[in-house]
Amino acid sequence: MNRVVVLGSSGSIGTSCLAVVAAHADRLQAVGLSVHRRWETLADQVRQHRPRWAVVADETTASAAKSAGLPRETEWLFGEAGVEQIAGHADVDTVVCAIVGAAGLRGAFAALETGKRVALANKETLVVAGPLVPQLAARTGAKLIPVDSEHSAVFQCLEAGRRSDLKRIVLTASGGPFRGRTAAQLRDVTVEQALAHPTWKMGPKITIDSATMMNKALEIIEARWLFGLDAGQIDVVVHPQSVVHSMVEFVDGSTVAQLSPPDMRLPIQYALTYPERWPGVCPTMDWTKAAALTFEPPDFEAFPALQLGFEVARRGGTCGAVLNAANEVAVDRFLKGELRFPEITSACRDVLQHHHYDSSPTLTDLLTLDRWARQETLRWKSSQ
Ligand code: MG
Repeated sequence: MNRVVVLGSSGSIGTSCLAVVAAHADRLQAVGLSVHRRWETLADQVRQHRPRWAVVADETTASAAKSAGLPRETEWLFGEAGVEQIAGHADVDTVVCAIVGAAGLRGAFAALETGKRVALANKETLVVAGPLVPQLAARTGAKLIPVDSEHSAVFQCLEAGRRSDLKRIVLTASGGPFRGRTAAQLRDVTVEQALAHPTWKMGPKITIDSATMMNKALEIIEARWLFGLDAGQIDVVVHPQSVVHSMVEFVDGSTVAQLSPPDMRLPIQYALTYPERWPGVCPTMDWTKAAALTFEPPDFEAFPALQLGFEVARRGGTCGAVLNAANEVAVDRFLKGELRFPEITSACRDVLQHHHYDSSPTLTDLLTLDRWARQETLRWKSSQ
């Protein structure tokens, strides 16, 4: 029995993960669930999965949550300490890190420090703390397995050849709701337009990141650390159908791709079962119907966030932490109507350029810069 903790169980990845767990109840067991604030959703999940621990990270909801009346075997925990406690507990095999944003870092680190299998859906762990994570995992024996669909695809494709024969990886991008638009056409897009994603249904932060293509920028950085690549070994191609989830090119010129209908339950399940593959709960490719898969180069002018992604992947060090924090605040300001759409990326670039760069930071340095970048981005005003 694989004892699984799901951090961020009320979000889209978290609920998909619990669907996978429920489909394999003979081999997977949810022993701990955490949410930020949505204790009512958590209470429903607890009644179904009967975990040992239920955590609400936001302590202000503690008294309301306690009124929910959980099964006798489940223990309530509150606050960030509760998240760390279950992520690092000796009776846990696998930790699914599905908390969105830099808030997910502490749980991921607790799991890495205690040598768990870490199914990583939280991009920020690698974007912010990428310089530290590979050594940490090597020291503790933690196994880091990506859940992000692109990185899962690369991870799967790498099984087709030797790591030393890898030439480059190609991350696919849906292009978001604004694919094909020029920079000028993106000046005045509204929050509603930016929230309407064509393929994936996700939370507002990730949906806006998809519209700016900052999501892909963060994935470039994530891939750089996860697979130990140079920025020059990473390419991005726009593939609107989101069927090819990414590709790996080997030195002999062979490209291996991973295809499946867009459904996050597949990469989640693979992260839980690797190196095995189990019968899945996902739809499969239907080759009885005609289908076209198309690929086009990205438009770096309309989506300058992509350039930032490559720049940060190249420079490393503190850059990822600063970009991530600046972007979180800039997206929030866009959603509140305080920034125009292109200003999300402009703000990030300015804050990135003005930070005190360090090529080999500690976690404390990174968290300090995270706070600094948030304040700077809150204050940021367009110079135009
Ligand atoms: Mg992705």
